[in-house]
Amino acid sequence: MNTCERCELCQQAALEPIYRGAGTVRDLTIHLCRHCGLLQSLPRIDQAPRRAAAASGAADWGNIRYGKGFRTAHALGALSRHADLSAPAQVLDVGSNRGSFARQFMAAAPNASLLAIEPDARVADCVQELDRTELICARIEDVALQSERFDIVHSCHTIEHVASPAKVLADHWRVLKPQGLLVLDAPSTAILESEDMVEEWFIDKHLYHFSARTLMRMVSAAGFEIIEPPEPGDRENLLLVAVKSGRPTASTTADPREVSDAERRVATYGRNRAANLAALTAVATEIAHLSTRRVVIWGAGRLFDALITFGGFAPSLLAGLIDAHLGAHLPQRHGLKVHPPEAITAIAPDVVVVMSRTFAGEIADTVRRLAPNAEIITYGELIGRARLAVAA
Ligand SMILES: [Zn+2]
Repeated sequence: MNTCERCELCQQAALEPIYRGAGTVRDLTIHLCRHCGLLQSLPRIDQAPRRAAAASGAADWGNIRYGKGFRTAHALGALSRHADLSAPAQVLDVGSNRGSFARQFMAAAPNASLLAIEPDARVADCVQELDRTELICARIEDVALQSERFDIVHSCHTIEHVASPAKVLADHWRVLKPQGLLVLDAPSTAILESEDMVEEWFIDKHLYHFSARTLMRMVSAAGFEIIEPPEPGDRENLLLVAVKSGRPTASTTADPREVSDAERRVATYGRNRAANLAALTAVATEIAHLSTRRVVIWGAGRLFDALITFGGFAPSLLAGLIDAHLGAHLPQRHGLKVHPPEAITAIAPDVVVVMSRTFAGEIADTVRRLAPNAEIITYGELIGRARLAVAA
């Protein structure tokens, strides 16, 4: 133990450095609490100057501010299972981002009023024009809200960014009415056991790295009863619904199983990522060999960046680069224009390489519709073959 910092969850002085993110620009080290198993990054600096958008495969990835929109349907689904959306509810949207949740929730809840909190003025304006919606452009920790004001608190991929999630959850509890609902969504460490990671998962934007167990424990300690735990099959996100019921309690119990699970996850991730980075050169070579034909890459994000940065792929070999979302925020990647999906018809590729993990199936379906003659190859197939070749 080389730190005097205490664990955010169990308050024990049991933090041990376990991993450093590749390419960290904030100089963060990921620590494991040897008592409760919570993974947390030190130092807890959450006020770093805002950086330009970086679609990098390394730890500096971020500031594109578009990912939360993919989670809105899940949050609305969870809310509709536990709340009457036609009721005149007061809603707090923490980290409202580009307003995806605010927009869709307010359309579904005609009698609700919403307070959106978003510190990034560049994106916060997205909620300005919405009816029954007020915006405070600030960090949630800096906003003083009235106690027992809200029926619902929605927080999507925000809690992992704050310096003290326990304090923020305690404040969510305070501002909720008795029996008020918390809908909380955060990235899951379960993804660390994926076999095909090449991008750095421990990014500088995230100070806490929750498993279902550590997140549920922190939420319960804040005085909530969890009424819908995270879906065990979702390896990327922890979406839970909790109700304000009891009182906050200290949660100091040891959890040796969680400690060993977290340790195993980080070790598996480090091993797999190293093997995949070694295999990326073979992936780049395989795509380069295809380039006597017209090759398009679909997916301009972190995997594409890793292919070039770590795999040495020459982007000039491509006939085009497509991304359904990223082009709106980053018009160019590695010297290539990022085209929207419709552009694929004019490019008329022979081969489409799908550089996405989460949306690979969805993208392949779209390619079959828009470019029915193109051969489709996925990142998953390429990295799988390359790893076998490297191991042989
Ligand atoms: Zn702990």
